[in-house]
Amino acid sequence: MKICHVCGTHEWVIAHFGLRALLPEGVDVIAGPGCPVCVTPAADIDSVIKLALEGVVITTFGDIFRVPGSNGSLMDAKAEGGDVRVVYSISDAVEMARKEPNKEFVFLAIGFETTAPSTAVEVLRGAPENLSFLISHRLIPPAMELMLGVGDVRFDGFIAPGHVSTIIGLKAYEVFPKAYGMPVVVAGFEPLDVLVGIYMVLRQVRERRPRLENEYKRAVTWDGNVRAQELMAKAFSVVDGFWRGLGKLPRSALDLREEFSKWDARRRYGLKPQRGRDLLPGCQCHLIIIGKIKPIECPLFLRACRPDSPKGPCMVSFEGTCRIWAKHALMESTTLSV
Ligand code: SF4
Repeated sequence: MKICHVCGTHEWVIAHFGLRALLPEGVDVIAGPGCPVCVTPAADIDSVIKLALEGVVITTFGDIFRVPGSNGSLMDAKAEGGDVRVVYSISDAVEMARKEPNKEFVFLAIGFETTAPSTAVEVLRGAPENLSFLISHRLIPPAMELMLGVGDVRFDGFIAPGHVSTIIGLKAYEVFPKAYGMPVVVAGFEPLDVLVGIYMVLRQVRERRPRLENEYKRAVTWDGNVRAQELMAKAFSVVDGFWRGLGKLPRSALDLREEFSKWDARRRYGLKPQRGRDLLPGCQCHLIIIGKIKPIECPLFLRACRPDSPKGPCMVSFEGTCRIWAKHALMESTTLSV
């Protein structure tokens, strides 16, 4: 029996609290594409590196600062003289742009449905003229659909991410039990939430009655955060999007609506659609991201690729499976078996 989650925080909870060691024999949990930094295409990182080296101030979240693009990271661009600033929220970028009107700013907007609403708020408020957005938001349900289409990755149910679900609501997962016969349980982030979520999936499988259940009732409702959904719908349209190492997924990304195109960094700077080098030599993040292999099956894991010398995004991000496993490798040495 395999249960697939799609959330870096769930993987962290499972690794940190040693939950795999508590599962019954024959039951495993695999990590799907739940790390937003890991799935951000190299091409988007390449674009902001180019802009940074041309004198544009790049603002973004710290997690992506060290992620390699095709030829280096934003950290490398900063070392070469680019003005790259890590912010805690998009409003920091807005404030910086207001305070320095003689400079051009770009905010690299990454993340799933949890972070997209805050980008939408700033777009709808009317950002300063000297700030534009490179939108690289991705959506979780299409990632789950992708997992169902990976022929040689078999699993028996999903644990859906609690935080994303507070925004999109339970209803977003209705299709999985109905159309695919796949159990889905939305789970929270305490260790007991995850264990109960796993139990609820197993119970559905045992009863042969796939359905949508909510373990995280204290935060997630059927409709989700309707106000946040409205803001996202006003600011963004849903488009096809590239996922790092996975290719193009239909209707899996957000882009600015036409009426906000003056804040679109791609248009403002004439950035051409391009394919970056998503995988560095030897890195198997594309297989890690879909749960096909575990980090210890990558020959570079904790050898050439370590948290302090990462070769791929899965070892850079705090939500990346390789980094989480590396950080907990000693603590969980008994459960790090293939
Ligand atoms: Fe890539 Fe490093 Fe993970 Fe291997 S251990 S898949 S090289 S990030």
